[in-house]
Amino acid sequence: MSELFVRTLREDPADAEVASHRWLVRGGYVRRVAPGIYTWLPLGLRVLENVERIVREEMAAIGGQELRFPALLPREPYEATNRWTEYGDGIFRLHDRKGGDYLLGPTHEEMFTLAVKDMYNSYKELPLTLYQIQTKYRDEPRPRAGIMRGREFVMKDSYSFDIDEAGLAASYARHRDAYRKIFDRLGFEYVIVRAMSGAMGGSQSEEFLAVSPVGEDLFARSPGGYAANVEAVELAPPDPVPFDDAPAAHVEDTPDSPTIETLVAVANERVPRTDRPWTAADTLKNVVFMITRPGQEPEPLAIGLPGDREVDTKRLEAQLGEGVAYAPFADEDFARHPDLVKGYIGPGVLGAENASKITYLVDPRVATGTRWVTGADAAGRHVFDLVAGRDFTPDGVIEVAEVRTGDPAPDGSGPLELARGIEMGHVFALGTKYADALGLQVLDENGKLATVQMGSYGIGVSRAVAVVAEGTSDEKGLCWPRELAPFDLQIVATGKDAAVLDKATELARELDEAGVRVLLDDRKASPGVKFADAELLGMPTTVVVGRGLADGVLEVRDRRTGMSENVAVDDALGHLL
Ligand code: ATP
Ligand code: MG
Ligand code: MG
Ligand code: MG
Repeated sequence: MSELFVRTLREDPADAEVASHRWLVRGGYVRRVAPGIYTWLPLGLRVLENVERIVREEMAAIGGQELRFPALLPREPYEATNRWTEYGDGIFRLHDRKGGDYLLGPTHEEMFTLAVKDMYNSYKELPLTLYQIQTKYRDEPRPRAGIMRGREFVMKDSYSFDIDEAGLAASYARHRDAYRKIFDRLGFEYVIVRAMSGAMGGSQSEEFLAVSPVGEDLFARSPGGYAANVEAVELAPPDPVPFDDAPAAHVEDTPDSPTIETLVAVANERVPRTDRPWTAADTLKNVVFMITRPGQEPEPLAIGLPGDREVDTKRLEAQLGEGVAYAPFADEDFARHPDLVKGYIGPGVLGAENASKITYLVDPRVATGTRWVTGADAAGRHVFDLVAGRDFTPDGVIEVAEVRTGDPAPDGSGPLELARGIEMGHVFALGTKYADALGLQVLDENGKLATVQMGSYGIGVSRAVAVVAEGTSDEKGLCWPRELAPFDLQIVATGKDAAVLDKATELARELDEAGVRVLLDDRKASPGVKFADAELLGMPTTVVVGRGLADGVLEVRDRRTGMSENVAVDDALGHLL
């Protein structure tokens, strides 16, 4: 330890909200460079590599082949799938010296799809599972809790390629199984929940959530085994509220034809963002308004609906000049501020006073944990149809209700309980979304071109380090499970006696030769400092070589239980192996 590049801290970092962040920084495992961007110091890197090793072993067990794509990627493939646009502010974009557009990869579906397209052309070459453990970049709006939500982070992402849906189902099941093994080995409590496919597209999707009060995800589960992210809970459609009983859907704070500036001002006053103020440039990414004027065809004002190729904000902006305004909210703010939805979806907002019908097409993600009913304005002039996904809901009133503890599970398996979780893994049956967009086809058994069925599967490798630390640390510091610990044991040599350091060094060498990973605290520090650091660093076992040596004994401490026992020096090796 006198040589190890580490500096433990006695004070909590100022920005530490959660235990894992506090201890990983204080223990000298990671070090902040910028918001959401961290350096892995030697101790932290060893834990990260241990997580990677577990992931690699289990991926190899299902036949995954490891490769590595660059993080610096050209625009074109992401343009072809429309994600260059869909990601909005969520990705880091850059230019090369010739003015070419690049991005730092947030996830790599496009690259894997294109690689397989280039190299394979027959069903005989499938199924195929490829993966990488690689650094990803996302310009997260709220980087948080140290490495738990970084802007640069390590992800394991794998991709399966099958000739048909049955093959995809089998690949999906194999991954699901591998994920259970990985998370069992990492040793935290987790649940597998139904999830929204969101921007990734595709049919089936599940998340692995580490159960934790500091999690940002909310999930619902029932005693009968139902488990879903609240975003994905399928609530029974509520009864439409009769029109006369309905509160009017209008915006009090805005004049009849509000300007975009008014809406921005109201948004900033009512639901201020934490990171920066709302601006007119914040597009309403997930709602498409269709306006019907008397005697005219419905006119879509397409505003970046995920999966929709005809994103047309220019057109929207042109409409704004005619008194059509929109509320500048991002999808997650819709989810977090149901009141805002209530207040803002209305004729006042659109300023479309002479519209006869206004239809809202809402991406299901907007309705996170909410129910949507449709409405009409108090004067009865406008009928509002709020359409979730593409299913039409009947007329009624715009009203938002959240999933609550005690609500019945949709499958009748008992009352729901809500709890928080941290997303550790996410498996998607993508189907043909990326293969269609990028033209990945192979010849099938009959010599006909068939579109390849894909799955994509992610694990937050760096996040896992934080999640394990979060779940195992105590008031004294970190407490690693053996498989993840940077070292199996830490030898603390105390006192000024040269014989102590000699014995400690000899024991360290013997254990090292026997394959035990040993950290020897040979610093010239007080026993108190060394013990506190051993507890902070959290190796599973501490061996104290000190005063007892004169009587031929060492002390062996278990970090997790806090129990200690005296072991005869001569038996030490046998005891510790
Ligand atoms: P989240 O909901 O936490 O933002 P996500 O749904 O955006 O995660 P995916 O696109 O499903 O993430 O990526 C796969 C995995 O990568 C996630 O399950 C998570 O474990 C991890 N991950 C995603 N974003 C981050 C991040 N900013 N920092 C660390 N790990 C992350
Ligand atoms: Mg995310
Ligand atoms: Mg998520
Ligand atoms: Mg996810």
